[in-house]
Parts: sequence; structure tokens; C-alpha cells
Amino acid sequence: MRKPVIFGNWKMNKTRDESKEFVEAIEKVLDGKENAEYGVAVPFTSLRKSVKKSKNLLIAAQNCHFEDSGAYTGEISVPMIEDVGVTHCVIGHSERRMMFGDTDETVNKKAKRLIEAKITPIVCIGESEAQYDAKETESVIRSQLNGSLKELDPNAVKELIIAYEPIWAIGTGKSATKEIAQNCCAIVRDEVKNMYGEDVASKVRIQYGGSVKPENIAEYMACEDIDGALIGGASLKVDSFTAIINATK
Ligand code: PEP
Repeated sequence: MRKPVIFGNWKMNKTRDESKEFVEAIEKVLDGKENAEYGVAVPFTSLRKSVKKSKNLLIAAQNCHFEDSGAYTGEISVPMIEDVGVTHCVIGHSERRMMFGDTDETVNKKAKRLIEAKITPIVCIGESEAQYDAKETESVIRSQLNGSLKELDPNAVKELIIAYEPIWAIGTGKSATKEIAQNCCAIVRDEVKNMYGEDVASKVRIQYGGSVKPENIAEYMACEDIDGALIGGASLKVDSFTAIINATK
């Protein structure tokens, strides 16, 4: 049985105090809830305070560099996020791929370094609207997985999280239908099977991301190959994230 895993992604939002207030409020909601794992990916500046205030809520970084140190102005390394106590790190989010030059190759290097540090990578993949229209979704998914998950320890692949996020659904309100989301997450699982075998594929957890909200989370969670969600906009307010938690079975 794969335990559901729901993560919020705050992107470039919230100061340290705003983060602390959110974490404290959600901790109350999570008290005694063991049906699923819940977490938030917070800005680097809020990591320490969020980790200190959290008990059940998992705290993730939103990115990392694959080198440990050096002349990389503005970057944050894996030892640095390890030092503040995060358990998870989002890598390869489409916004980073589109605006900051992340590629399958750098995502793969980041995944390797995170695994070495025992921090769980949340590996994001997903096709653009043009690729969707050109019916390239399946080939894009398979090729991104081949690049991003190349030559990893199979035991670590069982533990990591893959977020399938069609770019056309992120922040647009135009969420994928549950049929599309399920079909694409099944392709993700099939490609993990091609790369690492049946056992690993049956254990890896796959999230759907793209305009998930309290009103639609349950229909995604009911799909066979969807084990959770990565949520942007609807994770920013305590009320809507609480409603998502309460709607997750
Ligand atoms: C995201 O940021 O990964 C995301 C899915 O955003 P939203 O839920 O706002 O579409």
C-alpha cells in the first residue's frame, strides 16, 4: 500500500513570520491524522523557522544545487538544506526548467546528491501546452524520466516522489481531467517499471499537480496511479490547505 503524500509549493511567497503562523495552524489540523503525509515546500529564508515549528508537517526546500560549495552566487547546496533539517526537496519544477535553466541532466545530479544526503527528492516532470497539443505528452514524460532518474539506486527510487505536472494546468485553473491525470501517472509508473522493474514501480509515489484545489482533490486521489498532489495556489491559505487535508482520504 502506498501512503498518500500531499505537498504544498509556496513558490516565492511568505515571510518567516507568515510561514511560522501557517505551520502552527496546520500542525493543529494534522494532530492525530495519519492517513497521509502532508508537507509544504517553503522559501529558503523560511526553512529554519518552519522546521522548528513543525512536528507532523513535512518541510521541503524548493530547489538545491548539486555541488556542495563553490562559486555559484545565489545558489543553495544540499549540505545547507540538510543543515536546516529539511526532509524533502522539490527539483525540476517547470518554473525552474523554464526560467532558470534546469534540465533533466541537472535534475538528475540534484537527485543523486539529495539521495546521498537522505533527503527525499520530489522530482517534477510534465509537458507544455504545445507538446500536449502535438500529442507528445507520453514521449515527453518518458524522456524526462529517463534523463532525470538515470542511474539512481533502485532502493532510493522506491522512496522518492515523482510529481507529474502538465505545465498547461499549473496556476491556470485549467486542471487536467482525472482521466488525463490517471493516464499520465500510469505512463510515469510504466516508465519507472522499464527503468527499475516492477517492484520499484509498484512502490514509487506519484503526485498529480496542476490547479488542484479542495473541490477536486478527492477525484484525483481516487485514481489508481495517483498517490498524492503537489499544490501551488491552494496551499497558500490555511483554510484551503486545511480543506485539502480534510478532503484527502
Ligand atoms: C505547482 O506550483 O506545482 C502547482 C501545481 O501550482 P497550482 O496548484 O497553483 O497549479
